[in-house]
Amino acid sequence: MTLAVVLFTQDLRLHDNPALHAARAGADQVVPLFVTDPAVAAAGFAAPNRAAFLAGCLADLDAALRRAGGRLLVREGDTAEQTAKLAAETGAASVHVAAGVSGYARRREQRLRRALGDRLRVHEGSLTAVPPGAVHPADRDHYAVFTPYHRAWQQARRRTPLPPPRTLHTPEGLRGAPLPAATPTARSLPAPGEGAARRAWQHWHGDRYADLHDDLAADGTSHLSPYLHFGCLSANELARLAERRGGPGAEAFVRQLVWRDFHHQVLAARPAAAHADYRPRKGGWHRDAREFEAWREGRTGFPIVDAGMRQLAETGWMPNRARLLTASFLAKSLRQDWRPGAAHFLHHLVDGDLANNQLNWQWVAGTGTDTRPNRVLNPLAQADRHDPEGAYVRRWVPELAHLPGREIHRPWRSPHRPAGYPDPLIAPDATGHRLRASRHDAPADTLF
Ligand SMILES: Cc1cc2nc3c(=O)[nH]c(=O)nc-3n(C[C@H](O)[C@H](O)[C@H](O)COP(=O)(O)OP(=O)(O)OC[C@H]3O[C@@H](n4cnc5c(N)ncnc54)[C@H](O)[C@@H]3O)c2cc1C
Repeated sequence: MTLAVVLFTQDLRLHDNPALHAARAGADQVVPLFVTDPAVAAAGFAAPNRAAFLAGCLADLDAALRRAGGRLLVREGDTAEQTAKLAAETGAASVHVAAGVSGYARRREQRLRRALGDRLRVHEGSLTAVPPGAVHPADRDHYAVFTPYHRAWQQARRRTPLPPPRTLHTPEGLRGAPLPAATPTARSLPAPGEGAARRAWQHWHGDRYADLHDDLAADGTSHLSPYLHFGCLSANELARLAERRGGPGAEAFVRQLVWRDFHHQVLAARPAAAHADYRPRKGGWHRDAREFEAWREGRTGFPIVDAGMRQLAETGWMPNRARLLTASFLAKSLRQDWRPGAAHFLHHLVDGDLANNQLNWQWVAGTGTDTRPNRVLNPLAQADRHDPEGAYVRRWVPELAHLPGREIHRPWRSPHRPAGYPDPLIAPDATGHRLRASRHDAPADTLF
């Protein structure tokens, strides 16, 4: 009788799960394990919205495993220690885990390796469609620019998605902690788990995704990001399913999955990019706590920025276009350090993801992989282009809802402006210029 442990991390699914598949194929009994590690909370990563969504995903995973005859064992403590302890208790012949990309995941892997030796099996290609490092330029370990990465990705070999196990046998009598529970700060979260993820994909047609993905009021994107972050859906399988659907919508959607793979391969090669500038930046950042608070609270006086920040706080999610323009407002227009902005996003986002969040922030701030690092997204031009009728702002900044048409984007010019709505934090025509003007002129005491 052989036994294998599967350590679930960011792969909370039965379909297309290389670690689970290999454990099932190589052993008579399988112990599916999740470890609640206090180090994740200590690092500030277990923010309420993600903790609540994760708890739901684990309950769903446990239910799915039970339907196949197994169950999820939850343990609390240091992940490597708890896994090694369980392997010793059960006499496991092998322990399977998906390869991660963050520094934390790498250290976890090294410690598991030290404790388990060659009983540890690390499975590549579980978090992304193309494994980090599988494609790279001749002279580097990763791609630093998206377009050549996209071309290489399209030529890369991808795994045939794996079926879910039909049956599992988990031994009785193993001691486990209760499934975790948490209360979100968002007023509602998407339904958690693999079942909900697969239904969300089936119900989302995305035929007009190519035209509508940047239209803020249309809300036409898939909303699959929390499921991808926790691995309720496999990016590899999703890319296949989208390609099978075909059409311009599916093509544009797959391109976004490639962006996801792109950022993951950057972080895998440069784990420090989660905190340190990927490309060194000339000049310092402007520091102004009052401006930062106004940005965080959605009181900048720029309605399109405030709409995004309020949607984030209320729902734990924002469309990509809103993330781009709110992040650009902080990093480029206010010229503030991207790190506190990224931390604020991570505190709220139900899909908060180290690779996607930190590297998108760096892209926007000009310290990352954007080939035009001085690009500034002017919030007024963004509002006119991506919310032409003002419907998105009306939804999230209700005190301005009565302002007609595009007047809503420039309340400072409107005779109907409500008294409580703030003045613009910086001169509206300076939003695109502050970076360039201040890079050389800012007095030293405003820099750090
Ligand atoms: C400043 C900033 C911070 C971000 N933080 C996160 C984050 O913490 N977690 C996260 O998952 N995404 C993040 N993104 C990327 C993107 O905004 C979200 O993935 C997307 O808005 C999620 O909505 P959706 O699932 O409807 O996306 P869709 O448009 O339906 O796209 C499908 C999937 O492709 C991936 N994707 C789409 N756009 C990007 C992108 N620009 N970079 C990487 N992957 C992408 C996501 O997994 C997404 O679920 C961030 C973007 C910016 C500009």
